[in-house]
Amino acid sequence: LRMASTNVAALQKDKAYVDGKWVSAKSGKTFEVTNPSTGAVLGSVPDMDRSDAQAAVDAAYKSFQSWKTTLPKERSDILRRWFELCVKHKKELATLITLEMGKSYPESEGEIAYSANFLEWYSEEARRTYGHVTPSSAQNKRVMVIKQPVGVVAMITPWNFPSAMLTRKMGAALAAGCTVVARPAEDTPLSALALCQLAEQAGVPPGVVNVVTSSRDNASPIGKEFCENPLISKISFTGSCNVGKTLLSQCASTVKKTSMELGGNAPFIVFDSADVDKAIQGVMFAKFRVTGQTCICANRILVQEGVYDKFVQALAKAIDSQLKVGDGFEPGVTQGPLINKRAVDKVESLVNSSVDQGAKVVVGGTRKEGAGNFYNPTLLRDVTTEMSVSTEEIFGPVAACIKFKTEEEAVTIANSTRYGLASYFYTNDISQSYRVSEALEFGMVGVNESAMTSPETTFGGWKESGLGTEGGKYGIDEYLALKNICYGIQ
Ligand code: ADP
Repeated sequence: LRMASTNVAALQKDKAYVDGKWVSAKSGKTFEVTNPSTGAVLGSVPDMDRSDAQAAVDAAYKSFQSWKTTLPKERSDILRRWFELCVKHKKELATLITLEMGKSYPESEGEIAYSANFLEWYSEEARRTYGHVTPSSAQNKRVMVIKQPVGVVAMITPWNFPSAMLTRKMGAALAAGCTVVARPAEDTPLSALALCQLAEQAGVPPGVVNVVTSSRDNASPIGKEFCENPLISKISFTGSCNVGKTLLSQCASTVKKTSMELGGNAPFIVFDSADVDKAIQGVMFAKFRVTGQTCICANRILVQEGVYDKFVQALAKAIDSQLKVGDGFEPGVTQGPLINKRAVDKVESLVNSSVDQGAKVVVGGTRKEGAGNFYNPTLLRDVTTEMSVSTEEIFGPVAACIKFKTEEEAVTIANSTRYGLASYFYTNDISQSYRVSEALEFGMVGVNESAMTSPETTFGGWKESGLGTEGGKYGIDEYLALKNICYGIQ
């Protein structure tokens, strides 16, 4: 195992990080973190409650008073050092991800590169939060609009990208001059705490980044504290639609600004004109990365009738030859476990109910025997738009192929969902590529491309997939408030 050669222990903390100190829960309670591949206990971290969260908010509010006045160049330098430390420790950080979350080790290294890049990108953007001077409506007035940090930001993040979901938010927030209280998912607190340790080394001052760890039982009370505490100006959440909606309604009480990255139901459309080999390569990534557990994973694979059979056959072959299920540290493994047993049960029931309604299993369709939360990569054909595998977010390694006849039909099916995060299509018809990319009601469209996320561009959903955006030159604006300053002159 590669983990043996790395010095992970030094980055694995068993305390939360508040006001620059490593702290326990006031109650003294802890909860265990386990490896989803083996069930082994990796360690314990504080099970904090609402009062611990409140203390962290107080620390973040106090630190905000000085952090907001630091020079952008200073914040930029600190973020840059944090980025460099993440790169330096990429093996240990990646090992922690595979240990607590299960994704294959190469995927974990990929996540650390991606995660660190957000810190680098925002170290660059920190110095470019330009406002503007606007022509005045009167001779005796001068008007300018400036951008200032919104204040303390609370962040709630999921387990599927334990590092990158935090840096994408924290990089932007810190660059803008905000301070942070984050609650990472209960499944993956270790990656978050390791990031804090590197932040401290990079020179992030006490109280600027705070991480509060808790079990699922305390997630809701801490979420409530974040939404209702008047010292918090903004909530940034990545997770399910249902929890996002709960937080939004709770935020009404204090009119918090919010950024919401919620679920998706991504269509992956293959037109008759597509290069099928390229489309197969694309769908293998868009569907099976992180064992299907990303919110931009292809959920409904729509294939035009002229290439349907060819595509399904080629996909079956690719799944058989390219995917290997197992412990993420085993060489050659591409498909780690699902995050927990509940996730396996859900995937199993989606597949079974589709089969009951007439879908056919071409590959897989079963759990992997033995320990760990494994489900075999699965290919279903003859799927219809009414089946729950089409209407629900699968979040697992199941490729559900639906046949369609016309471009219009494909676009109608693709858009007939309340979600609007990622979408993909493959075509070699240039006019079609313009028509379809403009017609899709999604915040992200991959045209003959399935890897479309990077720090330089935006990540955000339309419709019920969310509010606001992360990354790119717009990501930092989510943490800045506009101020109109109007001067009366004599
Ligand atoms: P997922 O299906 O990815 O676990 P969730 O929305 O359930 O998505 O979880 C995303 C994050 O939100 C996790 O950190 C989880 O602990 C947290 N969470 C779950 N329920 C609540 C809640 N009621 N209030 C605040 N946070 C919550």
